[in-house]
Amino acid sequence: MQIPYSVFGPILRTLFERAFIKGLHSPNERPAAIEWEKRLLKTWDLLLPCQNPNCPSHWFILHDHANVQCSFCGTKQKGTIPILRLRSERRPGQWTLDGELAVYNDLYLFKWHAFDNVFSGEEADKTPQAYCVFYQGKWLLINQNITSLTSPNGNPVAPSPQPGQPGSAIELKDGVQFRLSQEPHGRMVEVQIINR
Ligand SMILES: [Zn+2]
Repeated sequence: MQIPYSVFGPILRTLFERAFIKGLHSPNERPAAIEWEKRLLKTWDLLLPCQNPNCPSHWFILHDHANVQCSFCGTKQKGTIPILRLRSERRPGQWTLDGELAVYNDLYLFKWHAFDNVFSGEEADKTPQAYCVFYQGKWLLINQNITSLTSPNGNPVAPSPQPGQPGSAIELKDGVQFRLSQEPHGRMVEVQIINR
């Protein structure tokens, strides 16, 4: 089977074009290694497990919010999918969109999601900060290690050593916004529910 480069998703697609189309005969057009690394890491956040148990790939990159379909086996995915749109405060009061995270059951969030000054390279701290579950018909974000997670209505959401302990979760509903951390460089999340 031939796989088109578009299966690598929107973040890598433009790099492939610069490297292999525009940059084919003009090396200066080609993206630098650091750009590939940054965009690969952002693309990692758009991976979803395929629901077809016989899928040859098991995972695919979310590339079309309006039609969530595995690029490898063609299976249309069932059920809602929360997208966490990550924003950073580049200037006081100005929150810039700088990442997207596609949510599946048991997805972990790390420090590089919660803070805009933590790079997700090899040396990064891999202690999970929170995780997402689909529980009794609801998508929840369960706090594990974030010290100042704040609910959409502004209440602190304490970290919990016991998964599922009440008061330690935020329900991921379409349109809600909350702060992952109140510390400097802490990101804000805006939830979008797709595949409804
Ligand atoms: Zn598949």
